[in-house]
Amino acid sequence: MRNRMIAGNWKMNKTYDEGVVLAQGLVDELKDGTGSVDVVVCPPAIDVKGVAEVIQQANAPIAVGVQNVYWEEKGAYTGETAPDMITAVGATYCIIGHSERRGYFGETDDDINKKAKALMAHGIVPISCCGESLEVREAGKHVEFVVEQIKKDTEGLTIDDPSKYVVAYEPIWAIGTGKTATADDAEEVCGAIRKTLAEIFGQETADGIRILYGGSAKPENVGGFLEKEDVDGALVGGASLKADSFAAMVRSA
Ligand code: 13P
Repeated sequence: MRNRMIAGNWKMNKTYDEGVVLAQGLVDELKDGTGSVDVVVCPPAIDVKGVAEVIQQANAPIAVGVQNVYWEEKGAYTGETAPDMITAVGATYCIIGHSERRGYFGETDDDINKKAKALMAHGIVPISCCGESLEVREAGKHVEFVVEQIKKDTEGLTIDDPSKYVVAYEPIWAIGTGKTATADDAEEVCGAIRKTLAEIFGQETADGIRILYGGSAKPENVGGFLEKEDVDGALVGGASLKADSFAAMVRSA
């Protein structure tokens, strides 16, 4: 019903040349195909064209995404990237609402909602991130916190094709810390996310939306998450920066 998805978020790593080398490494690692697993890599924006060219030339089953977007079409928005500019370089996915953007750059749920609408109007698939801080988790409020984020981030969205909207649950305390949530922790929240999506968009649409887990996901632990009913894949940071470890995660999905 839902194809699994393994998506790599390179964050602010890899120069253009390094990105091309990593993309070529991935193409080589995945030359026998990815089965039914959807594979996405999200390099820094300035690397995207080079990465997309390597993948296109090899005709590899890897999609390319970016890590941010601005919702306006064009104009005086120094430093920003418009949806049309993303599609023009061959990218088809965009991460929005990552906790690093929320935390360091003040991105709000309202911004994330506008970004999702702009992306979808241009046929770009949002990978919309949510997740709680350690403080919220320790207070036992993680489920309600994430449910609120989902409601605000999806407000007024129309989802015609559920394969074209992706949610990533990334508990902030598990990102880059080596501290993973347990598979049961992930399922508790991912299940609540799907239930919320069903209330908003109907069960059939909710059943078609991929929900990824992110936070210190690596080859050794990804299998445990994927056994869970509502976890459909992973959004991978550190382990996506090496072709062999990222490919191993694709193979075990
Ligand atoms: P790590 O896999 O490095 O913990 O990063 C997760 C993440 O933030 C992916 O978006």
